[in-house]
Amino acid sequence: MFELLKARILHGYQAIPDPLKAKINQAFPGVPRLSAGADLAALAKCCPVNAISDSGLDLGRCIFCGKCQRLDPEAVSFEADFRLAADSREKLIIRPGQQDYPETSIQTRLPRQFRRSFALRNVSAAGCNACELELGACSNVNFDMGRYGIEVVASPRHADALILTGPISQNMEAALYSTWDAIPGPRFLILSGACAISGGIFAESDKIRRSFASKLTVTLYIPGCPAHPLSIIHGLVTLMRGR
Ligand code: SF4
Ligand code: SF4
Repeated sequence: MFELLKARILHGYQAIPDPLKAKINQAFPGVPRLSAGADLAALAKCCPVNAISDSGLDLGRCIFCGKCQRLDPEAVSFEADFRLAADSREKLIIRPGQQDYPETSIQTRLPRQFRRSFALRNVSAAGCNACELELGACSNVNFDMGRYGIEVVASPRHADALILTGPISQNMEAALYSTWDAIPGPRFLILSGACAISGGIFAESDKIRRSFASKLTVTLYIPGCPAHPLSIIHGLVTLMRGR
C-alpha cells in the first residue's frame, strides 16, 4: 500500500490543465509564415510533396519536413503553434505575408446539440498508423479530450462524425462509404492528417481513390503528418464551441 501511494505521488498530475492553451515545445513546426517576398518557385522545387505553388504553402499537403525552411529561413518559418485546423480547403493555403492564420481558420460552428457531446468514428484508410496513434492519444490521461465531451466510439451507429485518417486505398473505399452510410444524420466529415486531406505522401499512387473525400462536404481539416493531439483537440473544440 505504501509503495502504491509513493508511486502515485511520484507520478504526479499528468493531465494537461488546458489543452487549448498548452505550451508546446518550441521546436514544434506548427503554423507556417511566408515572407512577402518569398521565392515560391525556388521553394516549390525542394518540397517533396508539392505543397508549395504560386499560391503559397498548402497545409493540406505539407508533411512538415522543414526542407523549405532550411533552404531559405528568411522566406519560411514555422511557429510553435498547434492551431492548424481549418474549416475550408482554401483556408489551408498560407500565402506570402499572411498573418491572420489561425485567427480566421475556423468560423463554422456545429449545431447546438453537438456543442457538449461529440462522438467520432475513425476509419483508418491505409495510412501509416501514426495519425491513428495520435488520435488515440487524444483520449489518454494527458490530453483527455473526454473532458470536452468528445469520444471515439466503436460503431458508426453511435457516431456524430467520421474522422478519416489515411489517403484512402482502393481496398478501403467501399468500407469507408459503408461506414459513412451507417452514421445517422446530421453527420459530419473530418479529415485528419495530410494523407486524409490530400493523399499526402501517397498522393501519386495509382492505388489511391479520392472520390469519397472530394465528393462529400468536409467540416474540418486537421493538418499534420501526423496531426498532433493538441491540433486535433483544438480543431474539434473550436468547431463545437467557437473561439
Ligand atoms: S515543410 Fe512542408 S512545404 Fe516545406 S518542404 Fe516540407 S512538406 Fe514542403
Ligand atoms: S499523414 Fe503522415 S502520419 Fe498520417 S497517415 Fe499519412 S504518412 Fe502517416
